[in-house]
Amino acid sequence: MKRFAEAAEAIAQTSSKLAKIAILAEYLRSLPSDADLAAAARFFTGNPFPQRSESTLAVGGRTLVAAAQNVWGVTDAELARGYRASGDLGAALAQYLREPADLGLFRAPLTPSAFMAILEEIAQSRGAAANKRRQILVERALGACESALEAKYVVKIVTGELRIGLREGLIVDGIAEAFSAPVADVRRAAMAAGDIGAVAVAAKAGTLASVEIAYGAPIAFMLASPLQFGSEYKDLAAQSWLVEDKYDGVRIQAHKDGTEVRLFSRRLNETSAAWPEIVEALRAQIDADVILDGEIVAVDGEKILPFRILQTRLQRKEVSEDLLRDVPVAYVVFDCLARDGAFLLDEPLEARREALAELRLDSERLRSAPWNALEAGSTQEDVHDRFEAARVRGNEGLVFKRTDAPYAPGKRGKWWLKLKRELDTVDAVVVAVEWGHGKRANVLSDYTFAVRGEGGELLVIGKAYSGLTDAEIATMTEWFLAHRLPEPEASRVYEELELARSEIPVEPAIVVEIAFDVVHRSTLHKSGYALRFPRIVRLRDDKSPAEIDTVGKLAHLLP
Ligand code: AMP
Repeated sequence: MKRFAEAAEAIAQTSSKLAKIAILAEYLRSLPSDADLAAAARFFTGNPFPQRSESTLAVGGRTLVAAAQNVWGVTDAELARGYRASGDLGAALAQYLREPADLGLFRAPLTPSAFMAILEEIAQSRGAAANKRRQILVERALGACESALEAKYVVKIVTGELRIGLREGLIVDGIAEAFSAPVADVRRAAMAAGDIGAVAVAAKAGTLASVEIAYGAPIAFMLASPLQFGSEYKDLAAQSWLVEDKYDGVRIQAHKDGTEVRLFSRRLNETSAAWPEIVEALRAQIDADVILDGEIVAVDGEKILPFRILQTRLQRKEVSEDLLRDVPVAYVVFDCLARDGAFLLDEPLEARREALAELRLDSERLRSAPWNALEAGSTQEDVHDRFEAARVRGNEGLVFKRTDAPYAPGKRGKWWLKLKRELDTVDAVVVAVEWGHGKRANVLSDYTFAVRGEGGELLVIGKAYSGLTDAEIATMTEWFLAHRLPEPEASRVYEELELARSEIPVEPAIVVEIAFDVVHRSTLHKSGYALRFPRIVRLRDDKSPAEIDTVGKLAHLLP
């Protein structure tokens, strides 16, 4: 590790990318064994384990300090002083390096592979004595260090804080230069294997092309940048885009390898057990080995339901039969990242979409996301029409994707753009209620609400019938029944507020917060305004009817 430390320090000290790559390449080329090469390449990423492995070190600062004290006899005071001066535990500990008190019969230098073996043992330490065991293992690594610089980097790797200004891209470049391999080949292999160590070894052996896709190891998700709603959408004019609905569910990456199916969440945790019907559908309905990207949404037949319906399934690791029946879901797939032996990440979206189409996903549980091309010369109005159509389908908005773009794992770039509307809310008072339909036929679930006009009078702006829980609706039903307006006031209100006969006027006392997509001018109500997609967010028990919003606020919110 002495030479690793020297190379790392030299890399940290230059700001030139080319110099960093050259130092890295020379060091990697000089390593005698494959095991050393694999370990060292990973150490440069700051994580000694393959990117996609679940191993972690879990060595706390206290364990490290205790180990250093045992090996070098550092005192607490010395350590505190050193840490304050450098802010870097590695540097702080390393300056106290001395000959170990207990010199074994012989001391072998710490090679990258020997250090890796120690780190693997640390990661595998479990149970009651795990901390003690980890400490002993750290002591073994520190005790083998011959220089302060070496100890500094050993500590940095244990703490996972290498910080030498070496991004993964530069490590790929370094490996390519070290073994005269094309950078694109190294990058492809790195994505396929998810282990830069294995890639370095393959580059050295000239076998990059045969690095296979590691099915079952999650790939970081590609993300979208926001588009400002109502802007001119200039970005959309210049390129060729595909448009999809923006689904409001949970993002899921599915890996199918033979009969083995695994699902991963956006944070790359495995969540297969939460979606058994999707796992089963993938197993039964797809012939190939694949990695897919998409969104799980709650559904009612063909129809997509709001996120809050799906939410009831999210907190559970395992789902009951009841829940499976009550909240059916579908996996809407919008990307295909690998199929059989071929990685498709570097293929343009168009080609990935073709691969997806060939899978013919169109069952109840497994669907491929419908998409359209955005015509050249589309206006703001065209974009908004599409947006409204997506909303009517129950989705959150739109996602625009460049047809020529690769799948860029972990990136939030300009290749994917998302369009959604920020929610606005108004506080309004309930002026009338109505019996619901279907399951809600016995409760007063539909509310007509009003804001205040210039003269303080109440003006109806709309009606909504969703958003509250069943318990809230039941309690409110009782309240409304007890607070119906008596005659002749009721008749006066029917007239003044232009209520329909099915609406029951009530005391204007209950304040509700209403969310909506957009305010527009309308002759439907006397207020002159109406809301699109109004929904009740919550009851505002904390507000009195005197504090509700005015038509002035609605005028202000007009698009
Ligand atoms: P946001 O959560 O608003 O940052 O939006 C980004 C998220 O939208 C992504 O992480 C996906 O989970 C989700 N999403 C929904 N529909 C799509 C789609 N068609 N393509 C890509 N991402 C989508």
